Amino acid sequence: MRFYMPTMVYQETDAVKKHAKELAALGKKAFLITGKHSSKVNGSLADVEEALKQERRSFVLFDRVEENPSVETVAEAAELGKQEGVDFVIGIGGGSPMDAAKAIALLIANPKETAKCLYEPKELKALPLAEVPTTAGTGSETTPYAVLTYHEEHTKRSISYRIFADLALVDAKYLSCAGPGILVSTAVDALAHLLESYLNKGANSFNEMLSERGMSLWARAKEALRSGAPGQQEYQYLMEASTIAGMAISHTGTSLPHGMSYYLTYEKGVPHGVAVGLFQYAYMEAFEDREKVKRALSLLGFEKEEDFREFLTELIGEYSITEAELDRYAKGMMSNVKKLANFPYVMTEEKMRQMFALSLKTEA
Ligand code: NAP
Ligand code: FE
Repeated sequence: MRFYMPTMVYQETDAVKKHAKELAALGKKAFLITGKHSSKVNGSLADVEEALKQERRSFVLFDRVEENPSVETVAEAAELGKQEGVDFVIGIGGGSPMDAAKAIALLIANPKETAKCLYEPKELKALPLAEVPTTAGTGSETTPYAVLTYHEEHTKRSISYRIFADLALVDAKYLSCAGPGILVSTAVDALAHLLESYLNKGANSFNEMLSERGMSLWARAKEALRSGAPGQQEYQYLMEASTIAGMAISHTGTSLPHGMSYYLTYEKGVPHGVAVGLFQYAYMEAFEDREKVKRALSLLGFEKEEDFREFLTELIGEYSITEAELDRYAKGMMSNVKKLANFPYVMTEEKMRQMFALSLKTEA
């Protein structure tokens, strides 16, 4: 067995304030990476700025990371970072700014490279990096992955480098600004990470332990998610589940549902969490170790797979694709070697078609 998760994680109220010194120890001039609005509203950006001022560190802000961030945006930010001479990077926000921050930290540390290098097999190191999550979904603060939209290739893909943050400052209080749509979609992403790591070819005791704990935490927040009225206690459960889920997928990676979801997100703009949620039931159905599926269901507080399916449908709704899209997506997935490798059984194009058909409505 092997397990590697080198990020220093603090999860507590006022984590940024309490660990200002460790944040400042990462360098002299910080590059803050955020989305357009939310970090200014939920207090996370102000907390980081305050901590840096207190520790006498200068900083520059790039606040233009879009959802499903593109290689182009990352390249633009890296140019600014280089001009400003920053020597460490802090990602603040959901998975989009946190993932962008990883790629930006890599490009600034290697000023002679162009953005193309993000998808090349080179030995490159990134600048020191801290992450401050404001959604309880991607777990990017504890994963080495950065998923970018690659317009040149009409897809969304993980970059070639595994970049763990040096420091993750996790505070569930930022979730109180998130509306029900974002909360649900990100919580379902965390659920997908827990399940896809648990039901995975690379699973062993380490990630199973993390997934099992994460699922039982997720279960405690699920009724509040359904009723649309989560409070501080549920925010804590969800944030903890999401950070733990990040550790779990750091070990195994995600599986088929994440691969299948990218078509819906890239081509139809379906939010990441919703898109991965749509395929969870079909994945469970296809997983041949029924005892393990039962254990997962029980930890999540469901008696039967059907109950799980109904619950998810109530949370995220249903989506349709055409027959032609179904054929194309199923074919495309058959060349997604990485995700296929995480499914422990034989997969055929016909089976893949059935998984899409079970998860989405089809129209002519
Ligand atoms: P996101 O794309 O980062 O953010 C979605 C929306 O939520 C944005 O409009 C954002 O606003 C807003 N928002 C963020 N925090 C908020 C808060 N506390 N209150 C109110 N609004 C808030 O969403 P995400 O689901 O966290 O990240 C999705 C991305 O992560 C995708 O690109 C996905 O592929 C990737 N991902 C990465 C990993 C990994 O391991 N690295 C794993 C799974 C998914 P602003 O834009 O104004 O900030
Ligand atoms: Fe995900």
